[in-house]
Amino acid sequence: MYDYLTYIWRPVSGGRHAFPIAAREIPAGEPVAAYCGAEADAAELHNRTELDWIRERSCVDCRRILAGRA
Ligand SMILES: [Zn+2]
Repeated sequence: MYDYLTYIWRPVSGGRHAFPIAAREIPAGEPVAAYCGAEADAAELHNRTELDWIRERSCVDCRRILAGRA
């Protein structure tokens, strides 16, 4: 599997974080953890709007962790 398919970026409360791609399968109401350790409700991974993407900044810690894996 290609590495870029193993994680997804999503804007949630507090920033755009990278999540394991399996987090997409978690039902709303369950907690999901980003690579940096930030937690969000799985519902926040779904139905993001254009405004959410613009408003939230990319998480520096997630970016660093993913860069370190390469
Ligand atoms: Zn993060």
